[in-house]
Amino acid sequence: MNNAKKSLTILHLYPREMNLYGDHGNILALQKRCHWRGIKTTVFEYEPQKKLPKEIDIIFGGGGQDSGQSVIQDDFLKLGEKLKKLVEDGVPTLVVCGLYQLFGNFFKTLDGEIIKGISVFNVKTLGGNERLIGNVVVESSQFGKIVGYENHSGRTFFEVDLQPLGDVKKGAGNNGEDFEEGVRYKNAIGTYLHGPILPKNPKIADFLIETALTRKYGMTKLSKLNDDLEKQAHLSSSSRPR
Ligand code: GLN
Repeated sequence: MNNAKKSLTILHLYPREMNLYGDHGNILALQKRCHWRGIKTTVFEYEPQKKLPKEIDIIFGGGGQDSGQSVIQDDFLKLGEKLKKLVEDGVPTLVVCGLYQLFGNFFKTLDGEIIKGISVFNVKTLGGNERLIGNVVVESSQFGKIVGYENHSGRTFFEVDLQPLGDVKKGAGNNGEDFEEGVRYKNAIGTYLHGPILPKNPKIADFLIETALTRKYGMTKLSKLNDDLEKQAHLSSSSRPR
């Protein structure tokens, strides 16, 4: 099948409430990298009280302030079972910071409020006094070096043995204690990296796209793109001080 007939539906969760430090750029990166290869994309912007679309090929959710997380909580919990099933079925998923936390079991904020999550990842998050802010460099077996930017009070801890996205080389990552960043589960990635992460780390963008196409159309190998600019962005952000 040629690419002109291929199309992917990207679910963007709460683009208004959960969108910090360039998170929307992740959607643009997915759209562009598909477009350059002749693959059509439709982005479904999910806002509270909407219905999820029938077809979902990629799930993306960004970060948000504690107040934003609190606002979406009730609506989000209603989506929980459906989103959980999609991840269990292998739908490629990227959730950043605020929604990474809420794809876990709960986030207990510094004020003591417990914002419940949907337990896709068996992790918990506890608000800390000092915010963890700055550039991050991670080394991952699947994607090599990953760069990004973090800004969170929450410290995320695994409740069971899970695979992190990678090892922290610069920055705090999940909790500033165990030198691990993010989580990898099935075809899902949870991470603290804003920046946004996908334009600077095209290997992760292509993993999401290739996995989505393979699930939908059978084994797919993506054509290579010229990533010189992306590589420069990658290099310059990994050489920045914390
Ligand atoms: N409000 C959460 C925290 O501070 C998430 C922040 C974010 O998404 N950047 O930990």
